[in-house]
Amino acid sequence: MELNASIKYLKGVGEKRAAMLAKLGIFTLWDLLTFYPRTYEDWSKITSIKNAPMNETVCIRAIVGAPCREARIRKGMTLYKTEVTDGEMLLDITFFNNPYSAKKLEQGKEYLFFGKITGKGYFRSMNSPDFVETDGTGGIRPIYPQTAGMNSRAIEKLIKTAFEYTAKPQDPIPEEIRNSYCLMGLYDALRNIHFPKSEDLLSEARRRLIFEELFLLELGLLRMKTKARQSTALSMARDYTQEFFELLPFELTGAQKRAIAEAAADMLQGVPMNRLVQGDVGSGKTAVCAALIYNCAKNGYQSALMAPTEVLAMQHYKTLAKFFESTDITIGLLTGSTPAAEKKKIKAALKSGEINLVIGTHALIQKDVEFSNLALAVTDEQHRFGVNQRNSLHSKGKNPHTLVMSATPIPRTLALIIYGDLDLSILDEMPKGRQKTETYLVTPDIRERAYAYIKKHLCDGRQGYIVCSLVEEGETSELTAANELFKKLSDGFFKGFKLGLLHGKMKSAEKKAVMDAFSDGEIQLLVATTVIEVGIDVPNAVIMVIENAERFGLSQLHQLRGRIGRGSEKSTCILISEADETERLNVLASTTDGFKIADEDLKLRGPGDFFGSRQHGLPEMKIANMMTDGEAIKETRAAAEKLLKNNPALAGEDFDLLRKAVNRLFSGGSMN
Ligand code: ADP
Ligand code: MG
Repeated sequence: MELNASIKYLKGVGEKRAAMLAKLGIFTLWDLLTFYPRTYEDWSKITSIKNAPMNETVCIRAIVGAPCREARIRKGMTLYKTEVTDGEMLLDITFFNNPYSAKKLEQGKEYLFFGKITGKGYFRSMNSPDFVETDGTGGIRPIYPQTAGMNSRAIEKLIKTAFEYTAKPQDPIPEEIRNSYCLMGLYDALRNIHFPKSEDLLSEARRRLIFEELFLLELGLLRMKTKARQSTALSMARDYTQEFFELLPFELTGAQKRAIAEAAADMLQGVPMNRLVQGDVGSGKTAVCAALIYNCAKNGYQSALMAPTEVLAMQHYKTLAKFFESTDITIGLLTGSTPAAEKKKIKAALKSGEINLVIGTHALIQKDVEFSNLALAVTDEQHRFGVNQRNSLHSKGKNPHTLVMSATPIPRTLALIIYGDLDLSILDEMPKGRQKTETYLVTPDIRERAYAYIKKHLCDGRQGYIVCSLVEEGETSELTAANELFKKLSDGFFKGFKLGLLHGKMKSAEKKAVMDAFSDGEIQLLVATTVIEVGIDVPNAVIMVIENAERFGLSQLHQLRGRIGRGSEKSTCILISEADETERLNVLASTTDGFKIADEDLKLRGPGDFFGSRQHGLPEMKIANMMTDGEAIKETRAAAEKLLKNNPALAGEDFDLLRKAVNRLFSGGSMN
């Protein structure tokens, strides 16, 4: 069978199992072969029953000495018992409510039993062991992530079958490179990652597969970078950013000025800028991009600013319109819910060049959005977008300058990979006069006191947020949770105050109305879901209560908290959570440093959760771990640089498969 054949044609699969496998992301035979074990069980070290340590997982080789007996000990609980021996000692084997396993054991046959032994003296037993016949699979056995209806053993069996029926995959890494880095061939690596012949072969297989993943990734990123550097850009004839400073109601921080100067210098060159502005929440990234947009417009070119949410796009529109009030810069707003007629008008104006700046969501990267002379593409909160989306905006112009902005602090090795194709400006300074936001952790029983504290601030003319528990954006329950809390509070504790409700399911006009009312101070207290997580900027809001804080990641809480403490006033954030969560959440109470919080988050949750599945916008890794495989990252980076230096296009027959594999990994992007 072909490697890209649908999994449902594999012996033992069929429609029903194919649907279960789809839940694990397995659609083709290749997906199955690259569905790597989560961990392994070592069935190669056999212990005698007598010498087996208690309560530790061990492997015993023993013969079944008795037929299976059934004992109903109470309603709903039946035991299935038998006895086995290794010639030296007896061992009771017990299964609970599991006749299926128990009855597979045949008297007189020898098996390997894998489980924990308990008991004293001569009375030893093993409950619910895993087992195989001794002539079956022993050795190091794979354990796979499971799904409902498919356990690890079932998947193991399918993978065995797949190896039987599929052709050997071709190795994308040319032999020459394999030799110089001592890498196992692809087929051997696949066999040994699933069914390792020894620990050594397993680690060689792992090394090889990790190398491949990272190598392809590095090649792709480096090629993107080189390609960008080679193209010519619309260069700015003059730097007008100083002029823009006069338009601002505040003095920029040193860090903001530095970032602007770095980017403005890039834009004077004939080479496209490719720059990341990284700054913690509240560091003032919007003003930085505004300066560059101004510069671009004054030079006669168009800019685009893309934000991940509609709420944020609308806010940027408002902010920039204010900054540019006294100029002749024209701005359009384009989101998924812009009315059709309006959309048409904006698109036409963009194409003709009447509009200098368009602000919007993903709507900006739709096919029919065309520009007259796009020279600057800005992506805000870039970690919310994939590499491909970043590239799509980019491809709307002829090599426009690219600026991406993000508040997500990331550790160094990761930065190298994730932003490997970008230059970096860091905003490491907060605007003057900011006070540190105080953060308190309280249990639900003193919620009323927290509310009373909000009330006091509202009476003082301040505003606040109540963030209700996280439910994935897009789910209907988000709406219910937010609605209910809103009703309860408006009719109850906050009766007589002006409350607003904001959640992701609202129509765009409603969202806008609520956001406007909140920023104009007409709404005093905003009950919201995580739609406010990114970007929202209302400096008069000085208090925030977060319900069920334990449901959020630390970095996300930090982002949410970044909605307050944006003015000169002291702000307070109150996290409501059950007592047993305090340790984790205390990190937030003790620091406002985004880098520290991200580090803790990584330690506590691991990189997978931290970045979410696609938070970093890179292709998903199946085996490499960007946090722990630091050495492999360095090695593959060097290998990729070396190869591209000699063969930038990966030309030649030997590199056919490699080139294709890189392109596949980045498919949908601007690589070819
Ligand atoms: P973020 O980096 O989180 O996107 P914003 O650009 O939204 O931050 O800025 C946060 C707030 O700080 C806004 O209200 C903005 O107007 C204000 N601000 C930005 N730069 C300065 C500055 N240099 N001095 C005073 N306030 C500033
Ligand atoms: Mg922002």
